[in-house]
Amino acid sequence: MTYDTDALVIKAQNTGETDRLVTLLTRKYGVIRAFANGARSPRNKNAAATGLLCYADFTITQTSKGVCIVKDATAKDVFFALRSDIIRLSLAQYFAELAAELAPREEEADEYLALLLNAIWLLCESKKPLQLIKAAAELRLLSLSGYMPSLVGCAGCGAFETDVMRFCPASGKLYCADCVPGEPCVEVPAAVVHAMRHICLSEPGRLFSFRLSDDNLLLLNDVSERYLGAMCGKRFATLQFYKTMTR
Ligand SMILES: [Zn+2]
Repeated sequence: MTYDTDALVIKAQNTGETDRLVTLLTRKYGVIRAFANGARSPRNKNAAATGLLCYADFTITQTSKGVCIVKDATAKDVFFALRSDIIRLSLAQYFAELAAELAPREEEADEYLALLLNAIWLLCESKKPLQLIKAAAELRLLSLSGYMPSLVGCAGCGAFETDVMRFCPASGKLYCADCVPGEPCVEVPAAVVHAMRHICLSEPGRLFSFRLSDDNLLLLNDVSERYLGAMCGKRFATLQFYKTMTR
């Protein structure tokens, strides 16, 4: 079987003498792994388009044993502006690792791909704070993959909003100022709650269109990272790297 799809390379491993094993976030079939034979030799026609964080049109052949081979790859965007900025690059690599963890296999992943491409384009543009892009990508990816936190109102009394609310990263529940959560939680002002609701519920095209003060962006990131850690049950090496770069 041979098929065409656009995809972002979310992982690229060396294999054999000049081959690559790439993990692709494809629009039509979610996350797939495919061999790009000879792609590490500079003159190979697929060399550029199969590198990490390249967005390309792929033609993929699946053998009778189910092994996927990249037959052809034509680069659409290599995000050149990322390559000279280690902090932005490390954040893009973190988004790629998150997608590999959370995006579906063998089913359409249009919204995941659009989210990653938008996030990486924003990283290239340098117009929005990194903390905003990071928290929005984290919480939205979690929401898409079935881990949407319960942000509609207080889990105790149903109150929509109080000036300060509390978010429990282990359960994704929100509590008002008056209810007592039976689990560890983080205090968040209403502005951060608004941002979290926006990230989880807005139209895809509006995802990154919100503002927060620097202090609240830090809080949002703290909450988002803790929630992500609780839902995924693992540490992401690329996140640790990003954090050492920005410390
Ligand atoms: Zn309450």
